[in-house]
Amino acid sequence: MRTNKILLGTRNPGKIKEARAILETELPDLEILTYEETRFSEVDEDGSSYAENSLKKAKEISEETGFSVLSDDSGLEVRALDGAPGVHSSRFSGPDADDETNTRLLLERLEGVTDREARFVTVATLYTPSGRSFTTRGILNGHITTSPRGDSGFGYDPVFVPNGFKRTLAQLGGKTKNEISHRREALEKMTEVIGETLN
Ligand code: IMP
Repeated sequence: MRTNKILLGTRNPGKIKEARAILETELPDLEILTYEETRFSEVDEDGSSYAENSLKKAKEISEETGFSVLSDDSGLEVRALDGAPGVHSSRFSGPDADDETNTRLLLERLEGVTDREARFVTVATLYTPSGRSFTTRGILNGHITTSPRGDSGFGYDPVFVPNGFKRTLAQLGGKTKNEISHRREALEKMTEVIGETLN
């Protein structure tokens, strides 16, 4: 019997797919609601850190819908760019940015740069209707390629090769990405919290 439910606080179809796959494996009794059937307003991600944005999204959406909400805020940090695009990853190339323009700008900024080291960071927050919040974090280290490769995933996946691999996340595919990713680490830590909190 299903004893608890949680709403994923994101409209990003790539994130929904990944979070669902991870949570369904770890917590088969959890009912997962998404934006597809439970609509909520857009949250302005104007915080200066992943933690701030992640909490803001989870809190506002929980207060609007009355559900426990799991949100994440993530970004790509490139060492040679002093950690950019970081918290601004989704709008790196401007207000009308999309994955393609962001990726193109990143490769332009790194033209001729030999230090390609980078990492993805995710901060996940669970916010309950009683006002409790829990935070976890995940990191994936790797490097940036010189051109995009592969077509699975989203965001900067086609230009990011995780340490220990030769192919980009977009070439490795969803199954492998979900075993090693920053989101996996943050959500896996969160499954323990969810198991203890929502029953
Ligand atoms: P936000 O967490 O919705 O603010 O978005 C962060 C941005 O970081 C996304 O729009 C992507 O550009 C990028 N990003 C976050 N996680 C990933 C990932 O797993 N792969 C590729 N890009 C990502």
